[in-house]
Amino acid sequence: MIALAACASVSGFAAEPAAPAGSGEARRQFRAGAATSNITPRLGISINGYFNDRAARHIHDELHARCLVLDDGRTRLASVACDSCMIPREIMDAAKRLVQERSGLAADHILISATHTHTAPTSAGVFQSEPDKEYLQFLTGRIADGVTRAINNLAPAKIAWGVGQEPSQVFNRRWKMKPGTIPANPFGGTNDLVKMNPQPASENLVEPAGPTDPQVAVLSVQSPEGLPIALLANYSLHYVGTSRDNDVSADYYGAFADRIQQLLGADRQDPSFMALLSNGTSGDINNINFRKKPEPREPYDQIRAVADAVATEAHRVCKGLSYQDWVPLSAQQTELNLSVRRPSPEDIARADAILAKAKGPGLKTLDEIYARETMLIKEYSSDVSLVLQAMRIGDLGIAAIPCEVFVEIGLAIKKQSPLKPTFTIELANGYNGYLPTPEQHKLGGYETWRARSSYLEVEAAPKIVETLMALFAKLK
Ligand SMILES: [Zn+2]
Repeated sequence: MIALAACASVSGFAAEPAAPAGSGEARRQFRAGAATSNITPRLGISINGYFNDRAARHIHDELHARCLVLDDGRTRLASVACDSCMIPREIMDAAKRLVQERSGLAADHILISATHTHTAPTSAGVFQSEPDKEYLQFLTGRIADGVTRAINNLAPAKIAWGVGQEPSQVFNRRWKMKPGTIPANPFGGTNDLVKMNPQPASENLVEPAGPTDPQVAVLSVQSPEGLPIALLANYSLHYVGTSRDNDVSADYYGAFADRIQQLLGADRQDPSFMALLSNGTSGDINNINFRKKPEPREPYDQIRAVADAVATEAHRVCKGLSYQDWVPLSAQQTELNLSVRRPSPEDIARADAILAKAKGPGLKTLDEIYARETMLIKEYSSDVSLVLQAMRIGDLGIAAIPCEVFVEIGLAIKKQSPLKPTFTIELANGYNGYLPTPEQHKLGGYETWRARSSYLEVEAAPKIVETLMALFAKLK
């Protein structure tokens, strides 16, 4: 009974009218509320995350939109992480509009992200997977309901944050290989200098093409009496995955939420404790140690092992936190226009020829799959507008980018941000494909191949970082 107990101790405060925004005399009461909305689909729905589509045949564990709302008496922020591979901007915008209509919480103060589990319903069309309209409608409503319920649960709270390290579960998945061992890319080019997910322990491996970010960032809110209300963590790992291709699962993000709740002794509370693991910058990071031959494992063993490692570190960080009764909150959002890497007339002619020869049903080869993507990108306009958002929670900064962001970019944001610590939530407020650095674009490889999963201009990353730093400067 967190809310009732907590309210009783500050009932005098609760009766006071809120100070008008910008009055300077903030009413110094800090509140937090959390809720989870179940977003599990029906069986039979399309699952994306591979080049080929799959149909859901089993639900291994339920999917959720995990919602945290913070309120400093003047400003209210919401952060939501959905168990989904990626969610297009229109769905997130529609959910934000619903929340704003119902509660007055400004749409630009809401951060909605996808965790990037690869065992969830298709919500954005990628490769051979297309979304189900009914599911998208359901998802929109459930996200809005979750934020609304988190607002309903707002109760006095104290807050703390900190960072730890879990280096054993993150590996850069792009590798430089021995000359002549990288196959032609699906555009017929033989100029790729890196290979994504090479054969582990292959004698052709040279070195990883980039770093990793082992940081586990933790934001914790408790009732004034010290009962856990919610925990938001951030880790830069793409996903873990299971060998059961037709299962629906929240991957290690869901398993983390379950494990940290257990470690904090926060089971069966009312309102329920809520943990949320957001994805940092993991566009080029996965959970495969390429130097070693993989050991055979049961389908969900690795998911549990990773979740346990990250939750154990988050719990260790929690034990050292000192909580504050009040911190200021603020958010800044803007839109950035970026060019689209559109195909040339020659690219289109080649794609046309490949598709004319393809024998269905379905596309079989990478050349065929990328030829179709070329025809789809041909229809894109020459530029696209991205939502970029920065949040400030006390001295903690959060950057939100609507892409699968390369880890180098997250490390640069952590270093350059005036707020310490700062972390990034990727796949937030929309979906605009992979975001490699210009240097990584030169190396080629899967994440740079033009498709609906990678189409922003080569210089997108520095422009995005510059824009985010301008937002942080305003927040500071
Ligand atoms: Zn991905």
